[in-house]
Amino acid sequence: MQQAGRGGEAGAVLIDIDGVLTVSWEPLPGAVAALERLRAAGLPLALVTNTTSRTRASIAARLADAGFPVTADDILTAPSVTAAYLREHHPRARCLLLNAGDIRDDLTGVTLVSEPEAPDRPGESGPDVDVVVLGGAGDAFDYAALNRVFRHLQGGARLVAMHRNLYWRTADGLDLDTGAFLLGLEQAARTEAEVTGKPAAAFFGAALSHLGAAPSATLMVGDDIESDVLAAQRTGVTGVLVRTGKYLPETHRAASGTPDHVLDSFADLPDLLDRLDASSDRAGGRAGGDNGSRD
Ligand SMILES: [Mg+2]
Repeated sequence: MQQAGRGGEAGAVLIDIDGVLTVSWEPLPGAVAALERLRAAGLPLALVTNTTSRTRASIAARLADAGFPVTADDILTAPSVTAAYLREHHPRARCLLLNAGDIRDDLTGVTLVSEPEAPDRPGESGPDVDVVVLGGAGDAFDYAALNRVFRHLQGGARLVAMHRNLYWRTADGLDLDTGAFLLGLEQAARTEAEVTGKPAAAFFGAALSHLGAAPSATLMVGDDIESDVLAAQRTGVTGVLVRTGKYLPETHRAASGTPDHVLDSFADLPDLLDRLDASSDRAGGRAGGDNGSRD
């Protein structure tokens, strides 16, 4: 396996974690061996995830325990990209975070207002909130918390969401995620969230900068056809959909576009890269141009 790049550009692979490498943090069959093959080939790679329940270090430790050859530096999360976004676009803003799980270690440079300090209504005593930041849904998204968010939005706070995912797959089935609550908040408060995680183009841009890779020489592998695959394709990255995790045939059929490639699982990725290398060689160095074959 060669690097997936063309003509001297670095090749790279962006890999979603949940539903691609693992489900409920248990490795999917063949995923560890496939990632080891990519590592052995020296391919630059980043694990890009909208996971909001753990820090980069915690995710790396969990994946390493499961046998995946990764470190925290290989991982980009929606919270870490969100922190960079807040530092750039809302510097010094007082942020109220609603999230299931402790991700504060990945929110460096962000001023968080804890809920007990934040007033229930704008104008009441206590620190004001400039930006409401929605992370991943969970028990923290109860009526009181969502209503508090609604009132801050009415008072002029901006709304930043780490993603719009409607649901995710757990060992027990599909669970409702932030996107479902976000739609209601946007409608009720007549506002539109600034979204920082997948499918935002800025998220893929952050991942490409992290690796120093060009979009045309990069593959994105995911189980969410819209947020992972088609969103990446819109930024010039080659999209690879896997039929694991949240993959559903009806969602695939109803999607707004067509993936460049479809694989049964991540275990098939090394062979796809080998085929792309071979066709690239035949075509004189063109990478990711195998659009005629929907694998
Ligand atoms: Mg996924």
